[in-house]
Amino acid sequence: MSVSEPQIYDPRLRLCIHLSGVVQGVGFRPFVWRLAQELKVCGWVANTGAGLNAEIEGSSSRLECFLSRMRDEKPACAHVASESIERALPVGYSEFTIRDFGRETEERGKKTAWVSPDLATCKSCLEEMRDPNNRRYRYPFINCTQCGPRFTIIESLPYARERTTMKSFLQCKLCSSEFGDPTNRRFHAEPNACPTCGPTLSWWSAKGNLLSHGEDAFQAAVRALESGQIVAIKGIGGFHLMVDARNEAAVMELRRRKCREEKPFAVLFPNINFAKAACKVSDLEQETLQSQEGPIVILKALEQSVEIARAVAPGLPWVGAMLPSNPLHHLLMDALGFPLVATSGNLTEDPLCIDERDAILRLGDIADGFLVHNRPIARRADDSVVRIVCDRPLLYRMARGYAPMSRECRDTWGDRLAVGGHLKNTVALAAGKRIFLSSHIGDLHHVRATNAFEASVSDLTTLYGHELSQIACDAHPEYFSTGFAARQAKKSGTQVVYLQHHAAHIAACLVDNNIRPPVLGVAWDGSGDGGDGSVWGGEFVKFDGEGIHRVAHLRQFPMPGGEKAVREPRRLALSLLFSIGESSKGSRLGFTEAELSVLLRMIQQRINSPLTSSVGRLFDGVASLLGICQVARYEGQGAILLEAAAEPDMGANSYNFSLLNQDGICLIDWEPLVRDILADQERGEHISVISARFHSTLADMIVAVVKRIDEARVALSGGCFQNKLLTELTILRLRIAGFEPYWHRNLPPNDGNLAIGQLALAAFKDTGEFPCV
Ligand SMILES: [Zn+2]
Ligand SMILES: [Zn+2]
Repeated sequence: MSVSEPQIYDPRLRLCIHLSGVVQGVGFRPFVWRLAQELKVCGWVANTGAGLNAEIEGSSSRLECFLSRMRDEKPACAHVASESIERALPVGYSEFTIRDFGRETEERGKKTAWVSPDLATCKSCLEEMRDPNNRRYRYPFINCTQCGPRFTIIESLPYARERTTMKSFLQCKLCSSEFGDPTNRRFHAEPNACPTCGPTLSWWSAKGNLLSHGEDAFQAAVRALESGQIVAIKGIGGFHLMVDARNEAAVMELRRRKCREEKPFAVLFPNINFAKAACKVSDLEQETLQSQEGPIVILKALEQSVEIARAVAPGLPWVGAMLPSNPLHHLLMDALGFPLVATSGNLTEDPLCIDERDAILRLGDIADGFLVHNRPIARRADDSVVRIVCDRPLLYRMARGYAPMSRECRDTWGDRLAVGGHLKNTVALAAGKRIFLSSHIGDLHHVRATNAFEASVSDLTTLYGHELSQIACDAHPEYFSTGFAARQAKKSGTQVVYLQHHAAHIAACLVDNNIRPPVLGVAWDGSGDGGDGSVWGGEFVKFDGEGIHRVAHLRQFPMPGGEKAVREPRRLALSLLFSIGESSKGSRLGFTEAELSVLLRMIQQRINSPLTSSVGRLFDGVASLLGICQVARYEGQGAILLEAAAEPDMGANSYNFSLLNQDGICLIDWEPLVRDILADQERGEHISVISARFHSTLADMIVAVVKRIDEARVALSGGCFQNKLLTELTILRLRIAGFEPYWHRNLPPNDGNLAIGQLALAAFKDTGEFPCV
């Protein structure tokens, strides 16, 4: 009797895989290809409008191995939001290939693939760039599947070179062979380029005359920066204006030419050690600075440091620091060895310049020279801004590295567009279970910004080719975005829904923490339309089964001159003094006699003096009373200087305040607070102490109202919660009082979160269910 080997039944099968999420532009196809070669399975992989598709054929045991390794070893920058796997009969593939479906196929499906943000230069590319024997030695556009531009070069989806701004650069023989070689780390690196075939630098005069190319252009820019000149530099997502950050006169000159009197500039440091010589850097701050996203991180400046001119951040103890995150910045920093001011290449609040010819027109009077390149920027990406608050990064501006943001959600959000607010605008789109948020667009005051806004809307809707059922906007009738929503809705026959500003902030905070009502929201910011003729901004909004109600707010006070009072905090100080019968103390605010009497009459007779309950305006008023800021040179300067003045003291004694009841709504009366501040001032108390006590009182006000409303969970949102001291005090005291505070994680607390809040609020109103992520 012969004994045969036992046969293990291992049939040949086919897996049909679909992945969604950030799976394009992160090296996923080459990774799948290599894995397939290694495991000797056949089939294909391709990018589609909706993500990544693959069919893998082989023995059942190999396929299981393939799946588990695909999940475990996927590329570092990939983010798989959903995975669908079907098992099918084999069709007899004899090899493994990377397919390109081309335009016809992809346009049939919904385009919901996620665009990867731009990725900071990786270690391998940096090593090559610094290696004299490498063919990309000192090449400012080096990249690979793990790093380089993505979002800023993509013209349409799915992500492939012919649909990026790299399409006009024909790859040379060497680059082509890397691109086609699955074992190479540049296999299907769509922006692949080298000095022979890729983009090059040029040096232009302020008038736009071409002076030199390539390495000569780079050296000319270096010499200009060394001699204290201002250079406009085209980077990945737009222009920066750069100047020696140590050179007081040069930084002042940049301020003068840019008409930017006092708003702080960001600083690009050569490396982390330079940053540590100028600033206090915690482990988490260092990690954030060196992260793949590479944001500006707001750090505490060291007092004795000589590395940074005072004009960089006048009157502030902080520095917005960043490290090089693209090859050109690395080369510049290597060559210069000193920090540079790196501020957005724009005029005041205009959107960032991205085109070199446009830059000459707009920045020609500011820059002494232009270092440009010939790779077009398809969409702008500002630098992101982050601050560590309560031991985690809090976004102030969500842009390069973080945006566009996309999420695959558990719940359905409908098919709607949200157009955000007026300042720090962003726009968002819901497509069933997927949501997308644009990068920071800016303040919609000027036509350039509104053009950028319209481009972002069309970007979101056409990139994802979506039919909308509704457009959500802010209820403020004078916001550009609101008018746009109304016009757009009329044109397309879509419904438009108007949403209250502070309710949208709280909705955004719920989304950000993935929680549902009931919750008590604290929405504190500069201003938002209340829908009752007054300006809100110190609101407590309850979300529960019965809907959304304003349950408490700051006692109102007049804003003489409306918007003018926002730019002139001393007008608000006068209003506070008048409201408590102390207008005679208004003489210390630096008004002329005539101005004073006109303003007092305006306040008294309520002429062009809308009432406000805004905490941002209370900050302004107090900053003026303390003599810190009478006229603001940039948005929120009063509040920022007041926070800067505070001696951070978690145990500071609070001032008095009282809670009143007005028709069932809780009113926070700040009158005792203002009286206490005046008394402290008369006693000669130091500003740092008064400011600390003021912050402490605000945190106590929140806790007192929360106790009265008695809702376990508290969501904090609105621009006031960019204030680190206020936010940390509030969170600490809410916890001590037994409540559960929630604040922002992946969205900024300011108006940059309104678009997502509007999407959620509109869905909540529509279905009665608050959508979760
Ligand atoms: Zn790389
Ligand atoms: Zn090449």
